[in-house]
Amino acid sequence: MRNITTVIIGAGQSGLAMSKHLTDYSIDHVLLERGEVANSWQKERWDSLRLLMPNWQSRLPGYVYEGNDPDGYMSMPEIVDYLKRYASLVGAPVQSGTLVTRVCRVDGGYEVTTDRGSWHCRTLVISSGACNIATVPALSANLPRSIVSMTPMEYRNPGQLPDDGVMIVGASATGVQLAREICASGRKVILSAGEHVRVPRVYRGRDIKWWMEVIGAMDVRYDEVDDLERARRLPSLQLIGSPERETIDLNGLRKLGVEIVGRFAGLRDGKAQFSGSLANHCVLADLKMNRLLSSIDAWISANGQDSRFDTPCRYEPTDPGPQTRLSMDLNDGSVKTVIWATGYRPDYTWLDVPVLDRNGRIRHDGGVVQAPGLYVMGLPFMRRRKSSFIDGAGDDAADLAAHLNRSLYRAAA
Ligand SMILES: Cc1cc2nc3c(=O)[nH]c(=O)nc-3n(C[C@H](O)[C@H](O)[C@H](O)COP(=O)(O)OP(=O)(O)OC[C@H]3O[C@@H](n4cnc5c(N)ncnc54)[C@H](O)[C@@H]3O)c2cc1C
Repeated sequence: MRNITTVIIGAGQSGLAMSKHLTDYSIDHVLLERGEVANSWQKERWDSLRLLMPNWQSRLPGYVYEGNDPDGYMSMPEIVDYLKRYASLVGAPVQSGTLVTRVCRVDGGYEVTTDRGSWHCRTLVISSGACNIATVPALSANLPRSIVSMTPMEYRNPGQLPDDGVMIVGASATGVQLAREICASGRKVILSAGEHVRVPRVYRGRDIKWWMEVIGAMDVRYDEVDDLERARRLPSLQLIGSPERETIDLNGLRKLGVEIVGRFAGLRDGKAQFSGSLANHCVLADLKMNRLLSSIDAWISANGQDSRFDTPCRYEPTDPGPQTRLSMDLNDGSVKTVIWATGYRPDYTWLDVPVLDRNGRIRHDGGVVQAPGLYVMGLPFMRRRKSSFIDGAGDDAADLAAHLNRSLYRAAA
């Protein structure tokens, strides 16, 4: 059993940002990583994915993008390289190829069991990711056997799919990107859309991510929002990072030939049933987009900067089509694949400490878990709206490392 002050589980951006701050406090620590640095970006994403935020926004503590394409969007190999360079720059003590199989509470801290021996630590940071498992609705079990059922974590490119139609369930960032790519491969695509968040890629000449930062939306704190539970469950923005800085939304997908249907609500005898709420979801998404654009316009005017940016504009309301169908027979052979772009969740099957709620989520207050010396990083809206993004890891790690340092200091006093 090796002794150390802090174990960090996971060497993605969250674990690395925490490591940097612990090093600054001279707290001895190790990062236990089942794969290599940036494992999730390397192994769990599809081939064509690019980051949704511009390169300049991929900031980490003491590290900024210095390449020649600040407004571009990194591909997966690029973000993996970027994080590996960061790990070596900050000298992160990563023990790769080490799977954590159990964490339990013991005298004076935690025992961390791995497939390469055990560690005893006084404090523990869980930065094992918020997206370890793709969420698939229970009704998927009733799909006809002839249908290939797949998650975005298994999807790499259209070449691995049968030639026939593909139904994609979920119209957030993952779903709309896969719909576009698979449609471009010549396959018929049906996209099932429930609640979604529509935004333009560029507004008044600037990237939407730039605007969200400038107007302060990304820094909103978890103790400032009225309904935190809802804020943490909101779907991701319909965005794609493409060199052309293109906007992706239901109107654009329809023009490419994608058929839009409502939320996948039921499946009986091989017949998929879609909710009739599609039009409402589209109206709501348009309303929210316009509210965001109005906040941007208001910020520009309030700061007397109208002449600096393009003139305001509004976009065509979403038109899901004249007659969206409410059911579809999945036995008729027209669809051979269903991809569940219905979200992700963390995996804590190895965590043997009673800190999970009935949905299997960690109970925490801004990342401070209800167990002495235990912290979590990288969850949606954990301390700020940006918590689960690359750019959010630094501020959260600074706060939590300061808390962790104080707790060690108090214990020693
Ligand atoms: C499809 C997709 C696209 C995204 N696009 C963006 C984007 O464009 N911009 C952005 O800012 N964010 C994006 N995100 C959100 C977020 O930034 C990523 O999920 C990111 O990988 C989270 O970083 P992390 O360090 O918190 O977790 P991860 O990167 O998941 O790192 C966790 C690490 O823990 C390791 N691990 C897990 N369990 C164990 C264990 N038991 N033992 C040892 N090691 C373990 C994993 O191997 C992994 O390396 C995206 C997420 C997804 C799913």
